[in-house]
Order: sequence, then structure tokens, then C-alpha cells
Amino acid sequence: MADFVESAKHLVSAAVSRTTWEAQKQLRIRNKQGEIDQLLKQRQLLLEELATAAMTLYQQGALSQPQLARVCAGILELDADLRNREQQLQEIKNETYQPEQFAPQPPRDYTPPPVAPTAPTTQQAPGTGGASTGGTPRAADKVPCPHCGQLVRVRALYCSNCGKKIG
Ligand SMILES: [Zn+2]
Repeated sequence: MADFVESAKHLVSAAVSRTTWEAQKQLRIRNKQGEIDQLLKQRQLLLEELATAAMTLYQQGALSQPQLARVCAGILELDADLRNREQQLQEIKNETYQPEQFAPQPPRDYTPPPVAPTAPTTQQAPGTGGASTGGTPRAADKVPCPHCGQLVRVRALYCSNCGKKIG
């Protein structure tokens, strides 16, 4: 009988210490996850700093590394596209109903601008340059980049193919 009580006590204390152990484990997991989250946050901040520094250099014309320049040009193009669409959004919001008006045009499917290719897809053959060759139909809102010949948006500030400043 005494033995039984003793061993029951023992079991209880074993159970308690297991609960404690599990609680400690959960606490350690939370702490470690917190450390990881902190590091990720710091990493994100440094990435943003890196991006800001690169964009600044690029806009100053001091970023000559072509791959980085392309990425920066792509970001600036997206920014311009975003501003355009924000403005269009505002215009749509400001529209008011006019009884004699046609229904608003349903939106056409949005096709995102093409991702900048890593290499120019078309090589302009020198010497053949008749403008009247017809050739491939060119979207009206695209013009060739003066530096690399890749088609870019008409009012693009930067070429998203070669990354150089246009105009
Ligand atoms: Zn270019």
C-alpha cells in the first residue's frame, strides 16, 4: 500500500514535470520564432535600403551594372504605369451618372506589360532600314529604344531592356 502511494506520487510528479517541460519547450519555440522574425524584419529593412540606394544611383546615372540597371528601369516603368492607373481609377470614381449616357465600357482584360527580356529579341539589321518595309505590326504606343532598339512605351523614361535613360 505504501509502495502504491509512493509510486502514484512519483507518477504525478513525473506528469507535472512533463507538463513543465512541454511548457518550456513551447516558450523556447516562441522565443526562437521571435528571434527569427526579428532577423527577417532587419533583413527586409536592409533589402529596402539596398533597393533605395540602387534606385538613387540609377536615377543619378551612376549605376552602370546592366542587370541592376534593367531592374531599376523596370521598377520605374511600373511606377509610371501605377501612377497612370491610379489616375484612371480616380477618373472612373469621379464619373457621375448622366441619363443620356451610354453604359460605361466594361473593362477589357488586363494584360500586364511584357517582362523585360534578358537579351534583345530583335536585332535591327543595319542598312536595310526602309521605314516602309511593313514588317511586323508594331503596337502604336511603342517606340524603339534609341540605345538598344527594343520597343518601349512611348513616354518611357527608361528602357526596361538595356536600362538606359531615354531622352
Ligand atoms: Zn534600350
